[in-house]
Amino acid sequence: QEDVFKTIVAHAKEYGFVFQSSEIYDGLSAVYDYGQNGVELKNNIKRYWWEAMTMLHDNIVGIDSAIFMHPTIWKASGHVDAFNDPLIDNKDSKKRYRADVLIEEEIAKFDDKIEKEVAKARKRFGESFDEAMFRQTNPRVLENQKKRDELHERFSVAMNANDLANLRQIILDYEIVDPISGTRNWTDVRQFNLMFKTEMGSTADGAMEVYLRPETAQGIFVNYLNVQKTGRMRIPFGIAQIGKAFRNEIVARQFIFRMREFEQMEMQFFVRPGEELKWFDKWRQTRLRWHKALGLGDEKYRFHDHEKLAHYANAATDIEFQMPFGFKEVEGIHSRTNFDLSQHEKFSGKKIQYFDPELNESYVPYVIETSIGVDRMFLSVLCSCYEDQQLEGGDHRVVLHFPAPLAPVKCAVLPLVKKDGLPEKAREIQHKLRFDFTCQVDEKDSIGKRYRRQDAIGTPYCITVDHQTLEDNTVTLRHRDSTEQERVNVDDLEKILAEKVSL
Ligand code: ATP
Repeated sequence: QEDVFKTIVAHAKEYGFVFQSSEIYDGLSAVYDYGQNGVELKNNIKRYWWEAMTMLHDNIVGIDSAIFMHPTIWKASGHVDAFNDPLIDNKDSKKRYRADVLIEEEIAKFDDKIEKEVAKARKRFGESFDEAMFRQTNPRVLENQKKRDELHERFSVAMNANDLANLRQIILDYEIVDPISGTRNWTDVRQFNLMFKTEMGSTADGAMEVYLRPETAQGIFVNYLNVQKTGRMRIPFGIAQIGKAFRNEIVARQFIFRMREFEQMEMQFFVRPGEELKWFDKWRQTRLRWHKALGLGDEKYRFHDHEKLAHYANAATDIEFQMPFGFKEVEGIHSRTNFDLSQHEKFSGKKIQYFDPELNESYVPYVIETSIGVDRMFLSVLCSCYEDQQLEGGDHRVVLHFPAPLAPVKCAVLPLVKKDGLPEKAREIQHKLRFDFTCQVDEKDSIGKRYRRQDAIGTPYCITVDHQTLEDNTVTLRHRDSTEQERVNVDDLEKILAEKVSL
């Protein structure tokens, strides 16, 4: 699986989806750029989300708030004091790690051992293997399970109490080593704030210290009154936003899964106090349906309900997606109570309330948040659509089976040969289609090579222009997934494509 992931990362670079930032200067860690095909895929993902939110609901509107915000906002939201990761350094290798991640990886090792035992037994006993029984009775499985649970329990206690000394003690007791150098000469664990700081302006008193926003949500909260009043919004209603967020992540691995600059699509839904759990449940289901509607495979999603809740939340769940490196969070859905709005009332001194005409009373609304990372969704689409397909006769092709509405290029017009007026005819067809669909003309190399190139960037349709086209105005339409070809009239192309590739 690791190898598959490496291949996908290499493919993403080779075909203009994702590049390492500042590559000619040897790169900038955990920052990435999107190339000519990547930006199209990313824009399509954003459109798919934005339209579902703002067009399919009467009561959800969008905003686009600035990245820079008044620094007190981050005091009010709790980010200045609590948006920290516990950090530990290896004194020998000088490598820096998140203490919680080191311990989580240790827990995962016990899980791996258990799964290996189960896999071994399954292989040995074949059809007659009773897996549930084996898990409940095998001594090696039970022993590892016991150790795992003990470690997990100690870890949860330390994390819940924010007990840094205890986190360090666990690392020492379990003899956890630096995964890169193999040594274990650790410093103390200390808190590391994930927000990037910079300075704004310059006055006689000095410049103001500001942060790059670590989430887009606060831009919605501080505009709650503006939108509610000017949009005459009635509760329940939502505000959606897509935008960049910045976190100085310590453990920056797994390509675009965890970046220091990334993009979020967030929607905050404002409800009556006491109704929040009903709405939490509704959004939990609605969001999963939205994901599944893409058709990447229902079995690739699962919920991960949180036992440990952030101080402001009274329910939280993640939608996880099966990446090549395991099930991982793509979206978080949180019932944030009235924490954020109340804090902003307190810190700004402004009343942030809603007068509910049906109840004839005023209150600070409760909030359900749905928050999804654009880049993580991009990665989930890329990984699940990638296929290295064996063909008859020993040949193979790499194909990205993107859902057609997300594909960077919707169709490519390919003149069979570069003469006899075929390229001109291809341009004419492109001109007809380009106002509605991203449409390329490719005339270099053999037709087979050109099909492979389009498969590799996930183009759902290739339109081939041949000599017959000049006689009867028909072309072949090749379908990416089946490679089947059909003969269609040029005048029907727009209609056929519109049906298949619109959102
Ligand atoms: P994680 O536990 O993986 O650090 P999180 O729980 O801190 O994520 P949230 O604060 O809930 O994440 O942010 C909402 C969404 O933003 C996440 O579900 C994820 O898709 C995305 N996201 C968060 N941090 C990053 C990052 N460093 N790089 C890319 N996407 C991110």
